Amino acid sequence: MEMWDTHVHLDQVHHLKDTVQRAINCGVTHWVLVAIGPQAYYQQSQCLKVLAPLGLRFLRSIGLHPEHPYSLNDIREVARLLEQEPIAAIGEIGLPTYRFLTRQEFNRNWDGLYIQLGWAERKNLAVIIHAVHASTEPMLRILEEFPNLHRVVFHWLKAPKEIITEIVHRQYFVGVTPDVIWRQRDQALWSLLPPSSIVLETDSPWPHHPDKSVSEPADIAELIHYLNHTFPNQRDWAWQTTLNARRLFNQELPEHPSQVNNRAM
Ligand SMILES: [Zn+2]
Repeated sequence: MEMWDTHVHLDQVHHLKDTVQRAINCGVTHWVLVAIGPQAYYQQSQCLKVLAPLGLRFLRSIGLHPEHPYSLNDIREVARLLEQEPIAAIGEIGLPTYRFLTRQEFNRNWDGLYIQLGWAERKNLAVIIHAVHASTEPMLRILEEFPNLHRVVFHWLKAPKEIITEIVHRQYFVGVTPDVIWRQRDQALWSLLPPSSIVLETDSPWPHHPDKSVSEPADIAELIHYLNHTFPNQRDWAWQTTLNARRLFNQELPEHPSQVNNRAM
């Protein structure tokens, strides 16, 4: 059975080898590595060399993070990487919420967002969106200008109820984190989501629970365990979220384990 962590900042992960090995031991099989710019992408490439013996299965994503001001050179460099590297998704891109950008920085990021969405549309890539709280609705309005983009995920979503409903209605995906185990806000989000829209992520090493200083991909195993025990009659959440992640990132769908077992008999 596969388990996907659809949002990991590998370049920022502490104690890299131990953390990755721990997740593999817990059964986390597939990783989407999110680079917030060219520098992060190169650092992740270095990490992957170190991790090669561990047999990590991963997809790569790059996009200029909306909370950071970026330069025209960064935009050009991302364009070059998209031509030359095996990249499955653009992101995380979107709109800022937490940081103040100057008018010039904001305008450049705004143009950069449209440019990157245009690339995703032309190259038929998945899009990982960072646009939370008050930024989610304007992001939805921007996406209306890209009607051919269907494989879109709102990562670690926090938004008003009616906006979440609109995201679901538009059949975008939603990234759910281990916060759903303990946080009422995220449980309310969960209750609005159809199972086919949910992908799981940690955004490692960004911390979640106040008792933990960092998150790590191994937390996905705990999250799936929680989901299977809390909603046992609904479905196997490792299987459901694997199907969703594979649809989002345009990967071939696996056979259900029961079919494989039947054939083996
Ligand atoms: Zn992130």
